[in-house]
Amino acid sequence: MNTRFKKFFSYYKPYLKLFFVIMTCTFIASSITLIFPLLIRYITKNVLEGNLSHALNQIYMIGAIMLVLAMVQAACNFFVDYRGHAMGAMMESDMREEIFSHYQKLSFSFYDQQKTGQLMSRLTNDLLLLSELYHHGPEDYAKYLIRFIGAFVILFMINAQLTLAVFIFLPMMALYALYFNKRMNIALKRNKDRIGDINAQVEDNLSGIRVVKSFANEELEKEKFAHENNRFLKSRKNGYRSEAYLSNGLETFIQLIMIAVIVFGGASIVNASLDLADLITFLLYIGYLIEPIQKLSHLTMQYQEGITGFERFMEILEVEPDIQDSAEAIELKNVKGNVQFKNVGFTYNGNHNNVLENISLNVKAGEYIALVGPSGVGKTTLCSLIPRFYEVSEGEILLDGINIKDISLSSLRRNVGTVQQDVYLFAGTVLDNIRYGKPHASKEEIFEAAIDANAHEFIMELPDGYDTHIGQRGVKLSGGQKQRLSIARVFLKNPPILIFDEATSALDNESEKVVQDSLEHLANNRTTFVIAHRLSTIRNAKRIVVLTDDGIEEQGTHEELIARDGMYARLYNLQFTFS
Ligand code: ADP
Ligand code: MG
Repeated sequence: MNTRFKKFFSYYKPYLKLFFVIMTCTFIASSITLIFPLLIRYITKNVLEGNLSHALNQIYMIGAIMLVLAMVQAACNFFVDYRGHAMGAMMESDMREEIFSHYQKLSFSFYDQQKTGQLMSRLTNDLLLLSELYHHGPEDYAKYLIRFIGAFVILFMINAQLTLAVFIFLPMMALYALYFNKRMNIALKRNKDRIGDINAQVEDNLSGIRVVKSFANEELEKEKFAHENNRFLKSRKNGYRSEAYLSNGLETFIQLIMIAVIVFGGASIVNASLDLADLITFLLYIGYLIEPIQKLSHLTMQYQEGITGFERFMEILEVEPDIQDSAEAIELKNVKGNVQFKNVGFTYNGNHNNVLENISLNVKAGEYIALVGPSGVGKTTLCSLIPRFYEVSEGEILLDGINIKDISLSSLRRNVGTVQQDVYLFAGTVLDNIRYGKPHASKEEIFEAAIDANAHEFIMELPDGYDTHIGQRGVKLSGGQKQRLSIARVFLKNPPILIFDEATSALDNESEKVVQDSLEHLANNRTTFVIAHRLSTIRNAKRIVVLTDDGIEEQGTHEELIARDGMYARLYNLQFTFS
């Protein structure tokens, strides 16, 4: 908690000078607010009741003073408003960059458990509310405190009895405000959770809208959505009820106080213990006594929302990436590509069952090996251990004899390229997407990679060639075209180790052939792991490794394994009979 506390205030650090000027302006503006009623009192009491022949000059004088004060106040308020909000926005922007770069650091296992929508709202809505607190918090608290204490001292000096009479109402009013305030805050928090649920659901729905439509499940989706939407509505209604109680109850309290002051004050005027100027002054200052209570709900809400935003921010920031560089991580140079698994075991976070157990496999530099086996035995998992997307639970993986844990993540991952069935292309042009494999690549290099990936021809046929914008996730391209772009991306990256995870499984026979060609071209002289769905695509592999739930069952060439008449032979015959 203490460290969070320090962290909260640390964001002011770059802006301390500005913050100091803002607080000074707040102080000046609030003090001027307190001086005005005093000047009005001076006019009504001393000027108008004294010698009227001097009155006009004095009134002009005071008028001039008030004008100057009003100008100073306006200037201060303008500064606080503009620069104060700007300061909040700058702090927010610093935090947004911090959380975004933290997102880049977090591991696969973190993203396995999070909803994208919620992660997004942490860096937009939540931080927006926090910036309000950063700016308004100190300013508002100072403003109301100065006005409250000032008004109390001045009123007490004018008439202690009447001041104390007003004070009797304040605790009652405060209790009332606190009670409904709390209820309102609960409702608001619930609203926020509900809107989060709605966001998550809509995100899910829109991302999967093609699946929804293909299953004709629109009605089901509407029902699910209506359920969430109703829960949100109900919680909104609850919130509004408490809000109505709060604001209208407080209005009534204020009216009661006014009535008390008029009746008490009026009576005091009749028995000559108070004069009219004092009563007017009272009415002018009373607002500043009530103000903090009236703003209580606003202030606590601001505080609560800001703090919640901060806590949600810290929740993420405090998540340590599961996988990070060790202190003496080394950078790889001239990687040959020998990959060695030594008694590797692996379990996903929170799962009991080992996905992989005691896997030992030595893949020589430049070797092309195929991994086959029933679905769910851990082929994808095994390959994702090489670039350290997940950390081995037991044993070790060596790259050119170096434990991958001792290699810097960026250097390790630069040397491993993956092509998966599920291609992700970013919003942007074809060129941008290929260039992703090597951000500073020249156009010539990009064209060359596209040619190597059998993609150049179809790219040239697109409306704007390489400058064609592909829709989000590349929906304007066919599966085979997307796959060839992703292969071009890896060509450009030029890693010595490759992983093809069912890269062609989603393609029709025609595209499969083209993509398979590009893949084989890419695999030339690189250590390659191929997870293949269709056994026809791996017949030529020098070594086929058969994985089962019990580990590596058998390995060898196609002919060897067929002759052995084991698992592979069964899988192969099965496929042969069915296709
Ligand atoms: P394969 O590629 O051989 O079909 P996977 O490596 O994808 O198999 O999965 C192996 C096992 O690990 C499966 O039981 C699967 O449910 C589980 N698994 C896969 N990915 C995750 C994950 N991110 N978190 C937890 N369990 C997972
Ligand atoms: Mg798989």
